[in-house]
Amino acid sequence: MPVCPFGLLDVVDGVVTLADGCTLCGACVDACDFEVISIEDARAAAAATDDYKGVWVFAERRRDRVRDVAFELLAKGRELADALNTELAAVCLGEASDMETLFQHGADKIYLAQGEAFAEFHEDTYAAALTRLIREYKPDIVLAGATAQGRAFVPSTAAQLETGLTADCTGLEISPETKLLEQTRPTFGGNIMATIITPAQRPQMATVRPRVFKKGTPDALRQGEIIRVDARDITPRGTLLEVIADISEKVNLDEAEVIISGGRGLAGPENFAVLRELADLLGAAVGCSRAVVDEGWLPYAHQVGQTGKTVCPKVYIACGISGAVQHLAGMQTSDIIVAINDDPGAPIFGVANYGIVGDLFKVVPALVAGLKAR
Ligand code: FAD
Repeated sequence: MPVCPFGLLDVVDGVVTLADGCTLCGACVDACDFEVISIEDARAAAAATDDYKGVWVFAERRRDRVRDVAFELLAKGRELADALNTELAAVCLGEASDMETLFQHGADKIYLAQGEAFAEFHEDTYAAALTRLIREYKPDIVLAGATAQGRAFVPSTAAQLETGLTADCTGLEISPETKLLEQTRPTFGGNIMATIITPAQRPQMATVRPRVFKKGTPDALRQGEIIRVDARDITPRGTLLEVIADISEKVNLDEAEVIISGGRGLAGPENFAVLRELADLLGAAVGCSRAVVDEGWLPYAHQVGQTGKTVCPKVYIACGISGAVQHLAGMQTSDIIVAINDDPGAPIFGVANYGIVGDLFKVVPALVAGLKAR
């Protein structure tokens, strides 16, 4: 009994009993000398995993266009499918005008759920449709973007299918020995990378933030098969009355080639005018650290980092940002990082390609003046 980490085991009238809360960790199975404890359900499910084949990527749309995150996941999905010698499919819930580009980015097939309900995003209709498609076609692996949409409906899909889901993965590989999907993600505040597997349930599901993987080069000659599935019977529980404002479209951190981010070193919301002037000259988007959002200086849509956006621009300029591990998690794959900070010991200089030690209120206006003079 003491081997159960949760104290759930008891012996009543010579029979082993298990209270609610078991996580199937298996400690009791290993410890029982008499082999009277076994985990039947997990083993039965494991036996059925062979029925599941193929890698699927949820092709997210913004209005009627496929979003970049789908192409990024197709590039990674192609690698995974090739390692498993299986096919790669994209899943469209509702039609996109540029759907055929999914083939050019590596998909062999498109599963298209058709129905008026999918024109707008509703988490209940999306979850119901994806669950139905997975039950019918049994993919081995399902990937989706860790975007506002993906975060809203993919967990519910995984719960309905009673399978595991690893959110916000930064690495996905196929184990050469077990052929399982190894899903790597930061944990304990970004200090440890955990690799998670889903050995007994199917499909193996993971979400990945935009810009974690790079898009491949499209092959204009590639074609594939579209499998249309009638899902008109799926209807939303709610009605979308009006979209008031799409803040994320204005901020556009996901697609910006240059980002200028400000941190607590800006000392107040009014001082972001200094960064905006430089941003306008460079055609850059303005990002920030979480400290800035916590202070209420900028809305959350601007936040870069572990609990904000993951970005990968050509140039990332960090002004008055110390470089906490949670901030680095969202920007350290940028092609070129420039750091402006008055503390030469700031950790941001550890990842920067170019570091300027100095007061940002002198350095940034000097950059602006230099650019204007060109
Ligand atoms: P500070 O750490 O206070 O750094 C300010 C910097 O500005 C200092 O280095 C200082 O030397 C410099 N400075 C001051 N004045 C000037 C000046 N005039 N000129 C030049 N430099 C100057 N943080 C994120 O950013 N994104 C996240 O997604 C995120 N997620 C988190 C999740 C968890 C679970 C936790 C626990 C924390 C998270 N954080 C995140 C917070 C993170 O740990 C840091 O607290 C935060 O990034 C610090 O922001 P900062 O660098 O702006 O502020």
